[in-house]
Amino acid sequence: MASSDSTPDITIPADLLPVDGRFGSGPSKIRTAAVAALADTGSGYLGTSHRKEGVRSVVRRVREGLSTLFALPEGHEVILGNGGATTFWDAAAFGLIEEQSQHLCFGEFSSKFAAVVEGAPHIQDPQRIVSDPGTHPEATADPTVDLYALTQNETSSGVAMPIRRPERSSGLVAVDATSAAGGMRIDPDAYDVYYFAPQKCFASDGGLWLALCSPAAIGRIEKLSTTERWQPPSLSLATALDNSRRDQTYNTPALATLFLLAEQLDWMLDNGGLEWAARRCETSSSTLYEWAESHKAAEPFVDDPASRSPVNVTIDFDDWIDAATVAAVLRENGILDTEPYRKLGRNQLRIACYPAIEPDDITALTRCVDHVIERLS
Ligand SMILES: *Cc1c(COP(=O)(O)O)cnc(C)c1O
Repeated sequence: MASSDSTPDITIPADLLPVDGRFGSGPSKIRTAAVAALADTGSGYLGTSHRKEGVRSVVRRVREGLSTLFALPEGHEVILGNGGATTFWDAAAFGLIEEQSQHLCFGEFSSKFAAVVEGAPHIQDPQRIVSDPGTHPEATADPTVDLYALTQNETSSGVAMPIRRPERSSGLVAVDATSAAGGMRIDPDAYDVYYFAPQKCFASDGGLWLALCSPAAIGRIEKLSTTERWQPPSLSLATALDNSRRDQTYNTPALATLFLLAEQLDWMLDNGGLEWAARRCETSSSTLYEWAESHKAAEPFVDDPASRSPVNVTIDFDDWIDAATVAAVLRENGILDTEPYRKLGRNQLRIACYPAIEPDDITALTRCVDHVIERLS
């Protein structure tokens, strides 16, 4: 790892630089217009009660905005609670998995949910279907499985997978869409729970989880809440469901996070919705994949073009280029968070292509990387 002392002194010319230098995969770029809108609320929103109309109307905007963006069918509901996607895994172990789950593990995040379930004493050990980083496994229908845990986009490695129900299966399909939601297309008939946190494609801050739930998922939540199984109150999905229906959360939420999320939803809907956002991510990621493919010293980490993420692009470099040094030089020039996922341990850059990130800034980034590499070699 290059420390800033050993980072080569390379100044990228100002006319090559992106307008906004935030390319991190999460927390990720928050649009300055959304931050300005938050500041404009003055003394009317931040610092006011989350049980009163001012805040509840923002929660309503979020729930309605998500229903519209994801074209939720009749009977589907948007539930939310505090704690982020990681907390949702804990909540799911109590309130969504009946006896056994099956997990597709192909990176850090998908593996973590399986580890939560493995540690839970009240349910069986999870089934794990594992594939190497850079690829994804397929679910296999099994009558003992009552929840299939899929991940639409594995943020750690930049692998995306198609979401479909395993054939002839009756279990719920729960999709970790933390980095996919809002940047990739999704068919609402293909899942029972589509959950995420808002600090990725939704360009807000962290600390919240949101879950789009089918009637079958709501049925499961209600059923498990009436059994003998103990559930910690703050992790109870039935409690979250009850509060969400009243446009509230069980305990105090981060009001700024809610507001920035509502602003991002309006921005996406005003521009053309999910299809528009998905195309924008594809434009940005294609720029990077094409750049890497035609580069003498770089290549996309994910071999199969169909599995390449449109929202987190991972690019490997030849040994003679130290990607950590490239990322460090970029950082010195105000281009932030292009380092790879720490535990993947590759000579790589990882770049977010979320909707808030301007496709022109992605093009500018490729020029900046070229500029740095030419001076390192
Ligand atoms: C970021 C991420 C998480 C963790 O989200 P938190 O809000 O930090 O808990 C989980 N899964 C995926 C796929 C992610 O990208």
